[in-house]
Formats: sequence, structure tokens, C-alpha cells
Amino acid sequence: MLTRRITFRMYPSKAQEAKLFDWRRLHCYLYNSAVADRRDSYKKRCVSVNYLDQQNRLPAFKETWGEYKELGSQALQNTLKRVDLAYQGFFKRLRGYPKFKSIRHYSGWTYPAKAGWKAETDGKNGHLNISNLGRVQITGQARTWGTPTTCTIVCRNGKWYASITVDCEPQRGTGEGAIGLDFGCNHAVATSDGTLIENPRFLGKSLAKVRSQSKQLRRKKKRSRRWKKVSKKVSKLQRKIANQRQDWTHKVAAEIVRSNSLVATEKLSLNNMTRKATTKGKQQKAGLDRSILDVGIGALISAIKYKLTEVNGVFVEVPTQQVKPSQTCPQCGNQVKKTLAERVHSCIKCGYVADRDVAAAKVMLNWATGLGTNLDRCGLDSSTNRATGRQLAKTKRQKLLAL
Ligand SMILES: [Zn+2]
Repeated sequence: MLTRRITFRMYPSKAQEAKLFDWRRLHCYLYNSAVADRRDSYKKRCVSVNYLDQQNRLPAFKETWGEYKELGSQALQNTLKRVDLAYQGFFKRLRGYPKFKSIRHYSGWTYPAKAGWKAETDGKNGHLNISNLGRVQITGQARTWGTPTTCTIVCRNGKWYASITVDCEPQRGTGEGAIGLDFGCNHAVATSDGTLIENPRFLGKSLAKVRSQSKQLRRKKKRSRRWKKVSKKVSKLQRKIANQRQDWTHKVAAEIVRSNSLVATEKLSLNNMTRKATTKGKQQKAGLDRSILDVGIGALISAIKYKLTEVNGVFVEVPTQQVKPSQTCPQCGNQVKKTLAERVHSCIKCGYVADRDVAAAKVMLNWATGLGTNLDRCGLDSSTNRATGRQLAKTKRQKLLAL
């Protein structure tokens, strides 16, 4: 059983929408007062308040503020959980001290269990029944539908969405193939079978638009009517880019998983790759950063990973420092250093010629399929670990046949 999230667009009536905005305001107040409560009691009385303390005070809080009664106690508890999560992050030094949130930017609230809402849909369109609000029409389509578990109501650019998680068993086809992937700067992905998938560069295309619009925005008086109008435009455009990027990511990942159940790729830390270069070659590095961020390689990798779990595939992370994919010849294993500018791999020992990134992808695939029995020792992703020495053996056989 896997968990998947499906987002539906909601079409509330005028009255319902007013109520939704009202509820969002109340949840935001609750969030802020929970932050204030923790902060003040620590500052003034040196008492740290935890989630349970706040949860236990919720009933009394609802008695004082009657309007909270119709919001549903589980949803309110979940908002307190969000505060707790923010504090946990702060205690672990992952983020700064929790801030107060403005109502305008407060996203929404969550029903963490089955109470307070009911989805009347089979995965394609339908209705959402929310207690004390009524029946709302929703549109959207799930790839695989299952048992709904949680529901998050989100307001984004003035539109309302219901993000529902379901427990389901996704069906996906895959092949027996194995593939190595290299994520680079000139192409988004180079595969070991020689395909180069180009960068989509959505941001590059839309960047000029975003720039001119945000310039307009800066020229308007803040919070004025015209400022609001332009800022709506900007956020709409940014949303569009995000959607395009997500669409591209999933299409590429699906294409890769469609015929390959073993994917080998380098273990990359994006922090390193996008770190600002301080010395010469700054311009080049800046361009590199741009396209890496454009593509969102991290998102692509996680999409590939989760699609692989659906087909019981294997995801192999190749330790690049050990294997050196960009320096090694995939045919004879000879190692020669290349500069960043050298785009073609041309072996001086065996004469093998290929695109630099394709060669690197091949080296990684070779390493992954030559793995054999060392499965536990390598950097296998734990979630996909239940697969399959058998499959590796099979791909190995295929390779031998191909040679
Ligand atoms: Zn060679």
C-alpha cells in the first residue's frame, strides 16, 4: 500500500467561499496565538509549552471563542501540530524561530483523519462534503484512486483546492531494461543508451516576463489597487512555471521508468553543484546554476525514485568519488581527467568516442549492473531495497548477450 496525493480544484458557492476565507483567518489566528503562547510563556515565565499542553487547552479556548466550534477539533489540533512542527525544526536547528503568519499568506488547514469531511468521488471529479460547510463540487483526476485518508484545504491565488491523500496500489508498467543517467548542465539528462534530454528552460523563457512584471510591481505603491493587480499577475506566472516544471518532471520520469526497472545515477549534492564559484569561470558557473535550478534535478530524481517503487524497481546511487564516471572510459576503464569544457569523451587507449555525459552514464550503468552480490554494501535506496538480486542477474545476462 502506498500513499499518493491528489489535488482537486474546489468550486465553492459565494456563501461557502466567504466561510472558507473566514475559517482560514481563524486557523491563522490560532497558529499565531499558539506561537505567541509558546514565546511569551518562555520569555516571561521560563516555562516551555509543548503540543500536548496546547491541545489540552483547546476545549477551553473554543468555549471562549465560539466561532471556532464549527471548524472541527481535529483540524484545529492539526494547526497546533503545524506550530509544533515549526518548533521542532527550530530546535533541530533546521530553520529559524517560528514567525507569525499573515492571513494573506496563510495557506489553509488539514483534516488529519476521516472526521469532518467526506470525498464523494471515484478519483475523477465529484464532490467534497465538509461538515458545517456543505457539499462542494471538485474537479481533478487521480491516476490511481484508493481509500482517502487525509484532506488539506489550500487557498492559492484566490482559488481553493482540496489536496487529498489516499492509500492505494498504483499500477504501472515497466520493462526489463537498465539505464544509467547523468545529470549535467548542457543537457538536463544524458542516458546510457545515448539519448540526450534537453533542458526545458521554462524559467529562462519566462524570466524576461517575470522580470518586467516585477519591475512594474516595484514601481507601484505598496498595497495599492494597482500593486495588487500586478502582484496577482506575477504570482500567476510563477505558478504557471511551477506547473510546467512539474509536468515536465513527471513526463520524463515516466518515460524513463516505462522501459527500465533499474536506474543507476550519481549521488549528487545539489548544494555543491549550485554553490557560487568564487574564482574564474564565474560566468560559466552562474549559467550552470541557472539551468540546474531550472530543471529541478532533485524533483526529477525523487519522481524517478517513487515511480520505481511502484514497479518494484531498483534505484542505485553510484559513489562518484570512487567510480569517477566523468573520467573513466566505459569500454576499457581507462581513466583520464577531463576539463569542464571538454564535451566529448574520446579514449586514447581504445579509441571509443561518445558524448561526455553519455559516457559517464554508461560508466555508472556498468558499475551498477556489475554489482552482483555486493548489493547490500552499495548505496542502494532503502525503499527500493526489497527488489531483487534476480533482476540484477538478469540485466547482467542481457549485457553479456549484447557484447
Ligand atoms: Zn577506452
